[in-house]
Amino acid sequence: SIPVICIDGPTASGKGTLAAKLAAELGYHFLDSGVLYRLSAHAASQAGLSLDDGAAVAGVTRKLSVSFKNDTILLDGQDLSAAIRSESAGMAASKVSAHPEVREALLELQHSFRRLPGLVADGRDMGSTIFPDAELKVFLTASAEHRAERRHKQMVAKGISTTLESIEQDLLARDARDQSRKASPLHPADDALLLDNSFLSIKKSVQQVLVWWQD
Ligand code: C5P
Repeated sequence: SIPVICIDGPTASGKGTLAAKLAAELGYHFLDSGVLYRLSAHAASQAGLSLDDGAAVAGVTRKLSVSFKNDTILLDGQDLSAAIRSESAGMAASKVSAHPEVREALLELQHSFRRLPGLVADGRDMGSTIFPDAELKVFLTASAEHRAERRHKQMVAKGISTTLESIEQDLLARDARDQSRKASPLHPADDALLLDNSFLSIKKSVQQVLVWWQD
């Protein structure tokens, strides 16, 4: 079967950076599944839907016309790369992702990323639900403090003014929602390897996963 490496973990655990670097290193395709939930929420808001209406949001989600060109994310030909990166887009994604119908609506699209020579998939449930037969499943952990600090640095670098406290509160709120939802609550797959990167550089984390992959 086509090889898949799953990188799952909570918000701002550094999984996006790790997964993208692994994909580049191995020459594999890359799926950032969080982007799909962000696009789903965006499309639903554009359509004037309430994000609480799971069936309606799933309806627009099934019809998403997404394309990825290098680092650009297009929805119906419109460049949303910047818009969906905001904290509010992340919050909205977290809301729609709690609906089982929405998760179901994104299943096929996610599977379509599994193409030769292989895939690195980044998300919350890549190993537990979407690619249960994946050869390697990594679950990243990092303390809320470290994750908030990382996110804070990124935002300051982008010129966004915010406080460490508000970011940490935001992260904890999202963690709580992701862990307590009935549909695919955030948890490591039974066969996932845990990697705590609180004190690891990105380079070291990539090296560790490559060692596991080559084993
Ligand atoms: O990873 P990212 O921050 O882009 O994800 C946005 C939100 O989408 C997360 O807070 C989570 O609620 C949801 N999500 C999910 N399952 C995934 C990826 C993201 O539920 N595989």
